[in-house]
Amino acid sequence: MRGTVQLFNYGYYLLYKGKSLYTAVQCETVEPFVPLREQLLKLAYASYISELLTHIMPHEEVNPAAFDLLLSSLKLISDENEVLGARYFDINLMKISGFFPRLLSCVVCAKNVLNDRGTIVFTASKGGVLCSQCSQNEDEGIPVSRGTLVLTNRLSSMEPDFLKKLKIAPQFYEEMAEITKEFWKFILERELKTLNFINNVKDMNKKER
Ligand SMILES: [Zn+2]
Repeated sequence: MRGTVQLFNYGYYLLYKGKSLYTAVQCETVEPFVPLREQLLKLAYASYISELLTHIMPHEEVNPAAFDLLLSSLKLISDENEVLGARYFDINLMKISGFFPRLLSCVVCAKNVLNDRGTIVFTASKGGVLCSQCSQNEDEGIPVSRGTLVLTNRLSSMEPDFLKKLKIAPQFYEEMAEITKEFWKFILERELKTLNFINNVKDMNKKER
């Protein structure tokens, strides 16, 4: 049974509940997600979404929406682009858990920010973006482009199969990473440990090039 209980293996398990741990008595693999164990960067991103889920969802609670999201995100990380898979997970977990930020209109004055030619900032503590006027009196927050806001918003309503066709510029990925990092830090009141893991692997890959 060793293969079926490997990290990130998706399968059916018949478990026997002991005093503090479960014993697996029968297992069957559905999808082994081999690349998640063989490629370090994919492993790092898969670990990141697992850590996030552990903090956001109550232990052992049945949640089909969160389960489906985890599965489709692991598939994207494994077979496609690991950053896209992680951001898809972040954004849709915000939605499932009821924390989704306001991205297309200002949280203070409700003005549509997509027509705003000034600097728009994202502030996790305010629950979304501030227009160029309202952000003048605000010292926290990170500047974000309108393209990133539209894209982030779209990721929350797209089917994973359509995502594969998306071509996303590195700048948008960087901004989305900043938004989600700030957001979860505020919600969880801590920084996720796996973010360091991701950064270490990226540094290592840079040095090897
Ligand atoms: Zn405003």
